[in-house]
Amino acid sequence: MPSKIIQVKEYTVRAHQREIHTRTFNFVCKQCDEPTQRETFGIRPLYCERCRPPQAPKKSAVPLKKRKPRPMTYKSDEGKVG
Ligand SMILES: [Zn+2]
Repeated sequence: MPSKIIQVKEYTVRAHQREIHTRTFNFVCKQCDEPTQRETFGIRPLYCERCRPPQAPKKSAVPLKKRKPRPMTYKSDEGKVG
């Protein structure tokens, strides 16, 4: 079979379930030096869940310039026609 190069377009995968293999490590946290246990995706964790909580606060990735402009509000009634 001859091989040839094809162009693969970018596409988005729909939400789906996937089986992932996690391991539970027993280790000593580097920060608090407490023996702990943590489930990860295969790499040995360095910190316990107290020192590095699973849902760590994300750094704001959206730049401020991308904020939507707010509609102007006028406080004075002088502009009203009536
Ligand atoms: Zn810790």
